[in-house]
Amino acid sequence: MMTDTRIVHSGRDPEAQFGAVNPPVYHASTILFPSIAAYNDSRKDRFKRGRSYGRHGTPTHFALEDALAAVEGGTRCLLVGSGLMAVTTALLAYLKAGDHLLMVDTVYGPARRFCDTMLAGFGVETTYYDPLIGDNIAGLMRPNTKAVYVESPGSNTFEVQDVPAIAAAAHARGAKVLMDNTWGVLNFQPFAHGVDVSIQAATKYVVGHSDAMLGAITVNADADWVAVKTAGTNLGTNAAPDDVYLGLRGLRTLSVRLRRHMRTGLRLAEWLKGRPEVLKVMHPALPGDPGHALWRRDFAGACGLFGLMLKPCPEEAVTAFIDGLELYGLGASWGGFESLLIPMKSDIKRTATRLDARGPGLRIHAGLEDPDDLIADLEAGFRRLDARR
Ligand SMILES: *Cc1c(COP(=O)(O)O)cnc(C)c1O
Repeated sequence: MMTDTRIVHSGRDPEAQFGAVNPPVYHASTILFPSIAAYNDSRKDRFKRGRSYGRHGTPTHFALEDALAAVEGGTRCLLVGSGLMAVTTALLAYLKAGDHLLMVDTVYGPARRFCDTMLAGFGVETTYYDPLIGDNIAGLMRPNTKAVYVESPGSNTFEVQDVPAIAAAAHARGAKVLMDNTWGVLNFQPFAHGVDVSIQAATKYVVGHSDAMLGAITVNADADWVAVKTAGTNLGTNAAPDDVYLGLRGLRTLSVRLRRHMRTGLRLAEWLKGRPEVLKVMHPALPGDPGHALWRRDFAGACGLFGLMLKPCPEEAVTAFIDGLELYGLGASWGGFESLLIPMKSDIKRTATRLDARGPGLRIHAGLEDPDDLIADLEAGFRRLDARR
């Protein structure tokens, strides 16, 4: 089945629920059992799905877990309360005191903070590596390297990683490969590229409407399911049923939304590339981008998120540009129906590479508005910016 078909048909069983197309939202903590035998049976194997306890999921959770696993090409998925919780739960599933983690330098900022604070406090050492390292990652592997973490393209600067090369080097030395696949969503098949554990901030495109927080950890092997499920159980992870339902609702239309996000994002990126105020556009799907060849090789498409760097200009010019925008929201997150534009922090932490800080950085999420209107809004912004140069 093609991805578009799986998106529509996975995780659904109308006959099991009165014929209704979508599953009901189960609100549950206590789950009752009809007999002591059934109760005891449920406690025998916590890796087997079944009637258990609200924290371990209900048919509402199972529906989205099954659908996401199918869409990503994996076997099992664990839903948790946020994308960041998916990151931290996955890391804790594989790392313990004395272990070493290879972490990409361009990782999502809060994930980096987790490594530098809590993981360090637990005695796990993190080494950051250049996202463009490819198979040279072999040189950084140590006997105690248990996990290699990739995020492609990278947060803020959108470098594309050679995931299959990194995975081959990691596996040759017995390390697991964890990937933040939030940008790739439907367009990057993690397990076909050597990833063991795929992490999604489902908050972004899966939910797609800026109204719920959700994280997903998907695996493709029984041993990884045991590791991830054990970590989730020990940490007490959970996802709220109404939010899970919103994720399920969002997923069904993800493919059409994503194509539009991609098309509009590329329109904006091309247009911005031609502007005299712009130093560079960071969008791997744009021909000429340093990551374009790898993106073409490994990705089936793009989403609507990309970055750009302006030529040096006064801060008040950038402020005037952003504050006067009418269609772009100013706020965290992405993947919703509305366009967003935020300034890139100038103090983004990098330790293995140098951040290009030649000019002010911006991050754009292309929403589902008419692209001509979005361009006109940016054009008016550049008039405000130019007037203050
Ligand atoms: C937003 C984001 C996360 C965290 O997701 P939340 O649901 O906001 O916790 C993780 N990784 C990436 C790449 C993100 O953009």
